Amino acid sequence: MQDKPSNNESEFIAKIEFEKLKKLEEESTKGLIEKEKLEIKQLHYMRCPKCGMQLIELAYDQIKIDKCSSCEGIWLDAGELDEIMNDSKGMLQNFLSIFHK
Ligand SMILES: [Zn+2]
Repeated sequence: MQDKPSNNESEFIAKIEFEKLKKLEEESTKGLIEKEKLEIKQLHYMRCPKCGMQLIELAYDQIKIDKCSSCEGIWLDAGELDEIMNDSKGMLQNFLSIFHK
């Protein structure tokens, strides 16, 4: 019973040490993830998500469409599909006609 307070103290110190190391680890991992994110972005920017080839940007009105130079897949940025859908049906038809050979 006599050494219990000192055990509690050791536990307390160990806990603090653990939290300190955990925080350091989290911070270094966070930095790594940010670095990896940047590398991934640089590697994949304007690349087709399917085949990895270069995307070519086509402008149609206010909408910028990314079309793959290899597999001819079409990619839209966030909100662009809504913009096309919300517009008149005529615009959608015109828009789609770009991609028909
Ligand atoms: Zn592609």
